[in-house]
Amino acid sequence: MNSISQQGQRFVYDALVIGGGIAGLTYALELARLRPATKIALVVKQGLVESSSYYAQGGIAAASLAEDSAALHVSDTLKAGDGLCYLPTVEAIITASTQRLQDLKNHGVAFDQQNDGHPDLAQEGGHSCRRIYHAGDESGKAIVDVLMQAVKKTPQIQVLEFHTAVNLITDAECHIPGSWPEVIGAYVLDEQQALIHTLLASVVILATGGAGKVYRYTSNPDVATGDGIAMAYRAGARVGNMEFYQFHPTLLYHPQKNNFLISEALRGEGAYLRLAGSGERFMQRYDPARMELATRDIIAHAIFTEIERGAHPYVHLDIRHRGKAFLESRFPLIFQTLLTLGIDISRDLIPVVPAAHYLCGGVLADVNGKTDLPRLYALGETAFTGLHGANRLASNSLLECVVMGYAAAEDSTRWLGVAPNHEKAIDWDSYGVTDFRRASQINAHWRGLRGEMTSYAGIIRTEAGLKDLLKLIRARRGMIDEYYWQHIVTRDLVELRNIILIAELITRSAINRKESRGGHFRADYPEKLSNSNESIFQLNS
Ligand SMILES: Cc1cc2nc3c(=O)[nH]c(=O)nc-3n(C[C@H](O)[C@H](O)[C@H](O)COP(=O)(O)OP(=O)(O)OC[C@H]3O[C@@H](n4cnc5c(N)ncnc54)[C@H](O)[C@@H]3O)c2cc1C
Repeated sequence: MNSISQQGQRFVYDALVIGGGIAGLTYALELARLRPATKIALVVKQGLVESSSYYAQGGIAAASLAEDSAALHVSDTLKAGDGLCYLPTVEAIITASTQRLQDLKNHGVAFDQQNDGHPDLAQEGGHSCRRIYHAGDESGKAIVDVLMQAVKKTPQIQVLEFHTAVNLITDAECHIPGSWPEVIGAYVLDEQQALIHTLLASVVILATGGAGKVYRYTSNPDVATGDGIAMAYRAGARVGNMEFYQFHPTLLYHPQKNNFLISEALRGEGAYLRLAGSGERFMQRYDPARMELATRDIIAHAIFTEIERGAHPYVHLDIRHRGKAFLESRFPLIFQTLLTLGIDISRDLIPVVPAAHYLCGGVLADVNGKTDLPRLYALGETAFTGLHGANRLASNSLLECVVMGYAAAEDSTRWLGVAPNHEKAIDWDSYGVTDFRRASQINAHWRGLRGEMTSYAGIIRTEAGLKDLLKLIRARRGMIDEYYWQHIVTRDLVELRNIILIAELITRSAINRKESRGGHFRADYPEKLSNSNESIFQLNS
């Protein structure tokens, strides 16, 4: 069989930004402001609007009321993080919050206001005060729309949509354990032309978001396949705390709508959880005092357990008793979206499942986004800075994206005048490609893996289950790595190769953590250890 060449062109930039969520957009805009002569490439897998950032509903946290303070915000963050936050990072990010909120407003982001012009701050679980700046229930869209327009008006930022970064390029031919190769660019798949270009740069920014697609149910969009973390790990950077996946208790279960969140505010407004079939309310078995107002992790455990026991793959949320007029005005997005699917929430029950929502771990980075590898930065959900510890406080993630975007732009200017070793880069070579496997075979691995992760490394974990899972993952990973070298490189294959690595890292970290803490629950080790550390992995470790 003839081989196919996918070799594209070579391009050189000052900065290569991989990912166009709020972290990537903020970084690119700030770097362009600080250094107007820089040439910046911003590559995204789909359109600029396809990111977790765009779908964020609740908002962004920053203390501003008289009774609130940065110290209180820090204390709430540490409590949620369950003993594993890194205090200097928490303090640095929260101290910067007021200034960064002002910067977003200066860009033109319009957060909701009260009639007297004061911000309309929302309250969310775990926060001691109202401190969430929001724009209705579409806060992420309000921020992304403004930043996206600003990026499009900035000529030195070239946006490349439908471009998928495949791998980082370093100045070392192979990784030597303990060494830190310089990152000098990335191979990027241009999906429309099926070519792999060599993009070289003085700094490379990973802002590729989380990895929710490793589980069967997730609130994340399809682009969330952990690519940045997988690429950094393969290049030799350390990654950490991958076992701490935060699950949201109530994702809509519907064949036509994959990843639509049903806000926890519905339970705040009195919604009941009921078993599908019998209609029985079941929260009295798990938290009789708080019932549906118990914390996120308790509700998610309860739903997961009832689904495992029962005959239906979902439970129901019931808010019919609040009446149509209230529901339509309080939850406009949810009301209208479900109506288009034939569910009138003032008359019908809402089928829901718990879903992977936020990855607290990622590529080890400081608050400026600096990773182990010279010239490589990791920002936003891709980074593991220690802000979230074992469990994220709601609305702290958008804050982390914005603060890090600004900080990394400033820090990374140090590399702009220092010539990278670009002559070490070799263009993409597809000489080994002889196989044209069908997309359905790649999909079969996807489906299998996501189901296995949900059952074995989801909300409730055990040693025996995790060890079985690791065997399954390693068998799949062997096959997928072979596919990768033999098959023409397509986006789904790149993502599958990354997600299987993410699955392995989550599973190994979950095996190692013999305790229950934050987003990690071990049925065989339900208690917390008195001394607990980060779980850190590096290639060949
Ligand atoms: C439904 C939902 C609601 C949420 N609500 C809130 C909230 O109210 N408040 C809050 O603080 N947090 C919220 N979160 C979490 C928060 O939205 C995310 O953590 C945050 O937006 C991540 O931003 P990011 O810039 O790091 O990445 P994302 O916004 O996820 O952007 C990732 C980008 O990387 C690109 N990309 C990925 N891989 C590649 C590749 N290989 N090559 C090229 N491009 C690539 C994607 O195309 C995308 O542009 C929510 C998350 C979800 C899913």
